[in-house]
Amino acid sequence: MSDSRKQVVLMKGIGVSSGIVIGKAYLMERGAIEPAQFCYMDSSEAERETERFTNAVKESRDQLLRIKRKMEHDGKGKEHIRIIEAHLLILKDNMLINDTIKVIKDERVNAEWALKSVLKGVKVYFDKIDDEYLKERSMDIEHIVNRVLLNLMGRKHESISEIKSPSIVIAHDLAPTDTAQMTKGMVLGFLTDVGGRTSHTAIMARSLEIPAVVGLETVTRKAEAGDTVIVDGTTGTVIISPSDSVIDVYRKRRERYESYGRALFHYKDLPSETTDGRRVRLMGNMEIVEEIDSLVEHGADGIGLYRTEFLYLNRKDLPTEEEHIKAYKKVIKKMAPHPVTIRTLDIGGDKVLSHMDGPKETNPAMGLRAIRFCLKNTGIFKVQLRAMLAASAYGKIRILFPMISGIEEIRQAKGLLEEAKAELKAEGRHFDEAVEIGVMIEIPSAAIIADLIVKEVNFISIGTNDLLQYSLAIDRVNEHVAYLYEPFHPAVLRIIKMVSEAANKAGVSVGVCGEMAGEPEYALILLGLGVDNLSMNAFSILKVKRLIRSISYAEAKKICKAITGLATAKEVEGYINQKLPGLYKEEFWS
Ligand code: PEP
Ligand code: MG
Repeated sequence: MSDSRKQVVLMKGIGVSSGIVIGKAYLMERGAIEPAQFCYMDSSEAERETERFTNAVKESRDQLLRIKRKMEHDGKGKEHIRIIEAHLLILKDNMLINDTIKVIKDERVNAEWALKSVLKGVKVYFDKIDDEYLKERSMDIEHIVNRVLLNLMGRKHESISEIKSPSIVIAHDLAPTDTAQMTKGMVLGFLTDVGGRTSHTAIMARSLEIPAVVGLETVTRKAEAGDTVIVDGTTGTVIISPSDSVIDVYRKRRERYESYGRALFHYKDLPSETTDGRRVRLMGNMEIVEEIDSLVEHGADGIGLYRTEFLYLNRKDLPTEEEHIKAYKKVIKKMAPHPVTIRTLDIGGDKVLSHMDGPKETNPAMGLRAIRFCLKNTGIFKVQLRAMLAASAYGKIRILFPMISGIEEIRQAKGLLEEAKAELKAEGRHFDEAVEIGVMIEIPSAAIIADLIVKEVNFISIGTNDLLQYSLAIDRVNEHVAYLYEPFHPAVLRIIKMVSEAANKAGVSVGVCGEMAGEPEYALILLGLGVDNLSMNAFSILKVKRLIRSISYAEAKKICKAITGLATAKEVEGYINQKLPGLYKEEFWS
């Protein structure tokens, strides 16, 4: 299997989804394509460029026709086919084609550069138009231009769902919309140049149990299509063109990892309880309905976080009330009698709606995200609230509002929920009148007023991914600041302590549903700080349960007390390591 004549490349990135895979590289083009500029000296070279350009346009047209035929053959809906037809029309557009040829000839530049500069002009024109539909057409033009550019540059343009043989996907960046299309059989693992541990792409990889390493910076330049690649998603190690003996070592590691996973199933039906009897509810995080079986299989005691934004991604329109209800009902039924915590739309940041190309925000993570978006777009919000209420007739649900920064947002959201209740009542529909509502504590302002917030809600859930992002000022998708992502940072520990104390004092349930909850060393501290439930991906549930069953609540509290005065994350880690040696080491590594 090794590529014996190639040079071995060892890379270290951020391991975001555990597991080891060995497979062939599949390079994908993602992100903006920035071609170089070449100037041509004579008209015959410009002629050749024009020909190259028209060939690339023809090639793009042929590709689109092939995709269209395949869609028709696969019985895809009319609306999908219409998108391809619209793209075919753009390829006939005289302005785009003739203007590009004119730039090649007048400015004597290469076709890629000419096409890109024509696109820039088109975009400036579209940006001035205040019409959602037309703005969307501008995105279509960009997609088409990218396709032609890739053809000009001799590179591939494929969607993840088109991958035909099991591969390791390598891309500069992958959007959550890409990850949502991944199927476990075809995508063995993935590697990206950019990204951080709590980006939604990484979260999706964990929930699909696809080993992944992000933040590799230059993997798209180092790997070539077809190279043999080892991905170790636990340690963040990537080896391109490994020798046979290295492949052998990793095969053995993979076996150990898999048997470790199997051994954990011993804990599946045992209670999640400390040695001195404190119960900690372990629930599952989910993004797409398909994940529910794996969560049930791993013994999830309910859903602590259902990220519903994936119902809105990868499509050109908005989900209807019926579509929402259908998805929720499936989850509720499979999880019964355990509760399902459904979070209202948390769009923005690194998750963007394809059909809603709103105003460009310089700082999307701090922009019109989540509850802010919903309170501005109450029509969209109400559809979801009505669906959640309607779904509550089928089993226990809890409604969770994300990105709350203050009390007013909670009251407004509750007001809209009341309106939705009144509507359903007037329509004679059944729902759970006493449906529980909760908020996510993700913004420092909300954490600081947790004592006031707990008076407004039935439960709170700490979203540590964003809480760390906002309190440590680290962009969660930026690999350059990923080293600052320190859940043991004394400030983070103090904030969590403050929030859980406020909740405990008010007798309100407090959970953690950020990625911290799924790591045993952090779960230990969350337990000691008084959190009563944790929500995580399927694979982590059994690891965390094993930890909880191995320690007493009294001891966890003692450790938390001892680390309170420590000054750095390293000191905290050192202390815990010394107290509980082995906590950081999973058996399969020894
Ligand atoms: C969080 O921020 O911790 C969280 C669970 O929400 P998300 O990761 O979806 O932003
Ligand atoms: Mg969040």
